[in-house]
Amino acid sequence: MTASGTGVLELNDVRKVYPGPVEPVRGISLTVDEGDMVAILGPSGSGKSTLLHLMAALDRPTSGSVRLAGHAVEGLPDRRLAGLRAHHVGVVFQQFFLMDPLTALENVATGLLYRGVPVRRRRHLAAEALERVGLAHRTGHRAGKLSGGERQRVAIARALVGRPSILFADEPTGNLDSATGAGIIALLRELNGQGATLVIVTHDAGVAGACRRRVELRDGQVVATSSGARQDEPGRAPDDREGRWPR
Ligand code: ADP
Ligand code: MG
Repeated sequence: MTASGTGVLELNDVRKVYPGPVEPVRGISLTVDEGDMVAILGPSGSGKSTLLHLMAALDRPTSGSVRLAGHAVEGLPDRRLAGLRAHHVGVVFQQFFLMDPLTALENVATGLLYRGVPVRRRRHLAAEALERVGLAHRTGHRAGKLSGGERQRVAIARALVGRPSILFADEPTGNLDSATGAGIIALLRELNGQGATLVIVTHDAGVAGACRRRVELRDGQVVATSSGARQDEPGRAPDDREGRWPR
């Protein structure tokens, strides 16, 4: 539940301008509700990553408003913004960004570093999160020794271990072969079926088709939206609300 009682995330006429000027995001409005699974689509350079950074409170808009879990991002000082991210946002990247010398468990536990959780509790929650992504058997393995698909599962567990209000993924299958990528998408759908709210940036039509909703960008603007997930995807359980992601 958000403070305003509506969307987990609400963007209103959001713009981002860089010196040049370059304007990668040009007046985007959209709402993400709790339990949604939204794909952000568009060709390279259309503004997807810039938009994701704004949605995830990693950056502030030049103008317009971003409300995340009921908080107006544009008005928050840096420390409050960091706190908002720590409590409400999980992010998964194409390149995983794991610490290779650390074990899977240690990597996932770092997802709780800024939450003030004691170390033993961090390890317990990290083990649970690894089980959730199908890696209970890999907790003690060094991240650098894992396969690409396993590495992305560890990154997803790290993003989810703090039970964020919303999980963002920027091209989560971009560095994986198609079979491994399909497994990651099935996992994301399963997590969404358990109540996790997801926003996935992709230019992969298969990934987009697996989402409940699609928002398509061109030159920093929304040019099309559609809803309804394909029925034939493995791991699909969007209407199964049992075992909701506890928060
Ligand atoms: P996508 O993820 O869809 O490929 P991006 O959001 O990364 O697109 O980039 C959109 C446009 O904005 C590109 O033309 C890119 O060069 C430009 N851009 C992104 N970030 C910056 C920045 N920090 N400074 C200047 N231009 C940027
Ligand atoms: Mg990008």
